[in-house]
Amino acid sequence: MECSSCRIKITNQDGAVNFKCPKCGKFEMVRCETCRKTVAKYTCPECGFTGPN
Ligand SMILES: [Zn+2]
Ligand SMILES: [Zn+2]
Repeated sequence: MECSSCRIKITNQDGAVNFKCPKCGKFEMVRCETCRKTVAKYTCPECGFTGPN
């Protein structure tokens, strides 16, 4: 599993989250603790949705 934003390998789940794309619900996003804190952008490869906003 790797972060959808920065591609860091997530080995420790603490602080990391994974969730389905809020738009298409097909792709599972993964965000590491760092990207959550910095509110880094992610893009769904299925529908092009860009979050977190
Ligand atoms: Zn990250
Ligand atoms: Zn999507």
